[in-house]
Amino acid sequence: MNARAARPDPIACDCCGKPLQPVYGSFHRVEREFGWCSLPYVLCGSCALQHRRGATEAKVREWVLTRASRAGQTWRAAVAQIMENAR
Ligand SMILES: [Zn+2]
Repeated sequence: MNARAARPDPIACDCCGKPLQPVYGSFHRVEREFGWCSLPYVLCGSCALQHRRGATEAKVREWVLTRASRAGQTWRAAVAQIMENAR
């Protein structure tokens, strides 16, 4: 039983699409609150640095959708609906 194997690895940066190394500290995982749930997105080091003063709401939604689409179209649609309702 390897505890690290249970952790889902980020695949790529949700901003620039660069593949990410599953090494602690090399990427930034953020969870954003949308009403009754929080949705994650992942940024590589350079994108996180670029947006460290805070990203626009539109950018955050874009990243969350990019991440959601990796889990399939059904999940992406569900996430889009959640964000729509949280407006
Ligand atoms: Zn990036």
